[in-house]
Amino acid sequence: MENIKTFEYTSILGWSASRYETFSNCKRQYFYHYYAKFDKEIPFEKIQFLKSLTSKNLETGNIVHDIIRDMLKRYQKSTKEINKEKFFKYSFDMTEKYCGSKTFFEHYYNGEIISTSKIYEKIKSILENFLNNPIFTWIEKNAALQSSKWIIEPGGFGETRINDYKAFCKVDFLFPHDDKMYIIDWKTGKPDDKKHSKQLTGYALWANHHFGKKVSDIIPMIIYLYPQYNENKVKVDDYLIAKFADTVINETQDMYGYLIDIEKNIPKDKKEFPLSDNAFFCSYCHYKEICPER
Ligand code: SF4
Repeated sequence: MENIKTFEYTSILGWSASRYETFSNCKRQYFYHYYAKFDKEIPFEKIQFLKSLTSKNLETGNIVHDIIRDMLKRYQKSTKEINKEKFFKYSFDMTEKYCGSKTFFEHYYNGEIISTSKIYEKIKSILENFLNNPIFTWIEKNAALQSSKWIIEPGGFGETRINDYKAFCKVDFLFPHDDKMYIIDWKTGKPDDKKHSKQLTGYALWANHHFGKKVSDIIPMIIYLYPQYNENKVKVDDYLIAKFADTVINETQDMYGYLIDIEKNIPKDKKEFPLSDNAFFCSYCHYKEICPER
């Protein structure tokens, strides 16, 4: 597989689906998340600590992604069948290691005692869904012939350009097969077709930009692993890609509107980032401890 293009560092903000989602949900949360060093009242370390909180669902997804990543990488070194007993032992150890090294939102705010074995129970059932379904059979069957061409969570942040605008679209797993290029994104949470299709359209654009592959030959797929396995191919064509590029430009311009210096990515004063009035967002917000009147 050809090399992924790299870009010279610039300070200008880069669009990503998750960045714009945070921006849309709450401007103040967006400020804390991306501009902590510009906060004149709250120490940077405090904001960074709150940012680093994980949650049971977030960590479950994180651990599953890393286990599947490691398994795919292992297939690149050896095409020997996976020893399931060892695989689950590895998965359990990883769950203990990850959970033991993080502070959970549920513990920090609600005093909940986090049970690693409960988290592992869910992880195990997600991994069983993975191992017992067509994607895993495909991986095992094709590993020997194709694995040198796989791209597994490429390094960096998935930087790309969309009509000259900086954007980040980080793929989980990409592989060529016949004359097509498949992009797979694993999901361990609830299906959200609109949100996930947008994210995967970005990945198709990323692949188009980096490998020059025609959009019609790129097949992005969302694989839901919980509560049951489900594959969802995302439709992309030149019209949808152009529409997506327009969306990225508009959303980037929206975010530029909260800056005093676009090139240097310097935000307006914190008070210009209004608080959300959505109690639901606030109840799950990492920053509620430092947010006024929350
Ligand atoms: S607590 Fe609510 S208003 Fe404050 S940053 Fe979080 S989501 Fe926004």
